[in-house]
Amino acid sequence: MDKFNPDTELLERLSWLINLRWLALGGVVITIIFSHSVLRLNLPLFSLGLITAILGIYNLLFYLCLPRVTPETTSELYARASRSANWQIAADLIALATLIHFSGGIENPFIFYFIFHMIIASSLLSRRASFRQATFAVTLFFLVAFLEYYGILAHYGLGRFITNDQYQNAIYITGVAVVFTTTLYIAVYLATSITTRLRQRERILEETNELLKEKDRVKSEYVLRVTHDIKEHLAAIQGCLEPVIIGLAGELNPPQFDLIQRATLRTGKLTQFVKALLEITRIKLSQEFRMEYFPIKEAVDNALSFISLKAENKDIKITTHIDPQVDKIRGAKEYIQEVMVNLLANSVKYTPRHGRIELTIIDRGNEILLAVKDTGIGIPKEELSMIFEEFHRADNAKAVERDGTGLGLSLVKQIVEGHNGTVWVESEEGKGSAFFVTLPK
Ligand code: ADP
Repeated sequence: MDKFNPDTELLERLSWLINLRWLALGGVVITIIFSHSVLRLNLPLFSLGLITAILGIYNLLFYLCLPRVTPETTSELYARASRSANWQIAADLIALATLIHFSGGIENPFIFYFIFHMIIASSLLSRRASFRQATFAVTLFFLVAFLEYYGILAHYGLGRFITNDQYQNAIYITGVAVVFTTTLYIAVYLATSITTRLRQRERILEETNELLKEKDRVKSEYVLRVTHDIKEHLAAIQGCLEPVIIGLAGELNPPQFDLIQRATLRTGKLTQFVKALLEITRIKLSQEFRMEYFPIKEAVDNALSFISLKAENKDIKITTHIDPQVDKIRGAKEYIQEVMVNLLANSVKYTPRHGRIELTIIDRGNEILLAVKDTGIGIPKEELSMIFEEFHRADNAKAVERDGTGLGLSLVKQIVEGHNGTVWVESEEGKGSAFFVTLPK
C-alpha cells in the first residue's frame, strides 16, 4: 500500500517499537551485568532479572498479537493498533519505573530515559494520548520518590556510585521532580508538534500526488481518444494511397509516382508513431498485464526474428548468451517480447555498419537479468537521465537517424515497471551502450 495511511503507518511503527524493545532489553541486560561486575554495585539481581524477563515475555506477546493489515478491517484495526500502542507504552513506563526503583530510585541517572518513551509516544499516539502518558510517567516518578522517601518501599542504593542518601533529601527530590516533570511535558509538546506538522505535510504531498495522478489520467484519456481518431484517418489515407501507387487509379507519371510514394512512406511512419503512442497510453491507463508463465527463450527467438533482417542489411553481428538455467518467467509474453524488440531495434538503428550486438540473459535467483549491449554511437552523458522520457531523443541519435518517435524506451520502461522490474542504461558516447532489464521470475 503506497498511499499514506495512518493505520498502516501506525502498524509499521508498532513493529518498529517491538524491535526497539528487543534492543532496549539487550541494553538493560548489559547495564545490569556491567553495574554488577565492573562497577561492583550491590543490586537486587533477582528482582532486576525478573523485570527484564517480564519485559521480554510481554514483548513476545505484543509481537504475537501484532494487528495485521487486512483490507476489510482498517478502521477497527486502527483502533486496535492505537490501543495496543497505548498499552505497550504504559507497560514500558511501569517496567522502567520498577527497574529504576530496584536500582537507586530517583538517584538513578537513567530516570531521564523516560524522555525516550515520551518521544516514542508522540510519534505513535495522538497529542492528547501522549500527554496522558507523560502524566502517567510523572505519577510513577512521584510514586517511587515518595514511597521510598516515606519508607513504604525499600530503597536500593547505588552504593559507592551515590554516597549520600539523596532519596531522603526533600529539596533534592523537589528539584528533580520539577526538572523531570517539565522535561517530559516539554519533550511531548515538541515531539508532537513536529510529528503533527510532518503528518500534515505527508498528507498534503499524498493529496497532491493523487491530484497529479488524476490529471495525468485525464490527459492520457484525451491522448488516447485523439490518437485513436488520428489512427483511423491515417488508415483511411493509406487505403486511398495504396490503389493509386499500384496503378489501380490509372497510370502515374514518374513525378506523380514519386510524390505518392513519399506520401505513403510518411503515412506509414506516422501510423507507427501513433500506434506506439496508443500503446503507451493504454498501458499507462490500465497498468494491467495478462500474466502467464512462459519460456523466456521463446520470446528471445521471436524478438530476434523481428530485427535479424535489418541487422544483416547493416552487417551487424548479433550474439546471444542465454544462461542454461533460465527457464520460465511470469509476465505478459507479448509485452516482454516488445521490450526486447525495442532494445534490439534501437541497437541496430544506432550501431554503424559492421558493428556488434550482444544479448545476454542471466538467471539471478528470483529475477532474470536481460542485457543488450552494442558497439554503437552511445549516448551523451547529459542525456542518460532523459532518454526514458517520452519523445526525448539525443542529438547524436537525431543526426544518425532522422526518423524516430522517442517513444520506444518510454514504452520499455512502462512495461518493465508494470512487471515490477527495473531498467537502466550504461553508455559512453562513441563507444556503445548497454541496456539492462531485470524481471522478477
Ligand atoms: P527512438 O529510437 O525512436 O528515438 P527511443 O525511445 O527508442 O526512441 O530512444 C530514445 C533515445 O534514446 C534515442 O533517440 C537515442 O537518443 C537513445 N538511444 C536508445 N537506444 C540507443 C542505443 N542503443 N544507442 C544509442 N542511443 C540510443
